[in-house]
Amino acid sequence: MTHPQHGRRAAGRPRYRRAAAPVVAAAPETTSLPEQGASSPKTTRSRKPSLLRPAMTVGAMTFAGGMLLSTSLPALAVAATDPDLSASVYAPAEGSASEPSQTLEVGAEVALQPIDPGAFDVEAAPPPIQSSVAGLGSVSLIQGDRIVWPVDPSRSASGFGPRIAPCGGCSTMHDGIDFNPGNGAIIGSIADGVVITATEAGGGLGVYVEVQHNINGRVITSLYAHMQYGSLAVSVGQRVSAGQALGTVGTTGQSTGPHLHLEMYGTDGVRFDGMAWLQSNVTG
Ligand SMILES: [Zn+2]
Repeated sequence: MTHPQHGRRAAGRPRYRRAAAPVVAAAPETTSLPEQGASSPKTTRSRKPSLLRPAMTVGAMTFAGGMLLSTSLPALAVAATDPDLSASVYAPAEGSASEPSQTLEVGAEVALQPIDPGAFDVEAAPPPIQSSVAGLGSVSLIQGDRIVWPVDPSRSASGFGPRIAPCGGCSTMHDGIDFNPGNGAIIGSIADGVVITATEAGGGLGVYVEVQHNINGRVITSLYAHMQYGSLAVSVGQRVSAGQALGTVGTTGQSTGPHLHLEMYGTDGVRFDGMAWLQSNVTG
């Protein structure tokens, strides 16, 4: 305890004596100076080192401030981040804050960083699933708790399954479901997920977006086709939340009029009836 103070006392003594000559006798007073938080009783009764103490106090505060910044900034920054980007704080449980989570850099690229589930307490939530999409790196899919209609469902035009081809070159097997909410209507993601496709060069699909989701531990992909050119609101690798705008209803690609063509499929790639699925899974 005395060692660390020797240097400071030596340095401080000359100034101290000049500043407060009449009361210099209490040399031990200096022992109280640097003891930040040491609760030395001397700190309260020493009035003399008035020149010294502010300086030391500022120093201590600066030091303390530095400590505060360096230890708490990452956590604060993470906490302030859009939860959609918070793959790194998958389980911000108490007790884990001092663990390797402190070393993560916060930024958009975090969304694409692999997660070591072992570094976090994940008891409170299901573990993330790694995206099956090659080329995206390791994208974790965090399960959300909302499932919503992509557009107003009151005007759905064409159901899933075999049909009479609506146009030359159109398939007789309808791989998706169609909605007619009107040209330019905003299309929202049906659930939290990661964008795996966002292109204006989708061939028959025109301008389209695919979002991969973790729904009850199952990887499900939703595909939104025939959007308007220039309306894409997301990019590949981006995390989106349920209802987040992806683009607007258009008639690009092989389409007979403005509508949303929605396809849904699992990791096997086999399309299933999104209408039936949404009707039984939409949470509001
Ligand atoms: Zn369709």
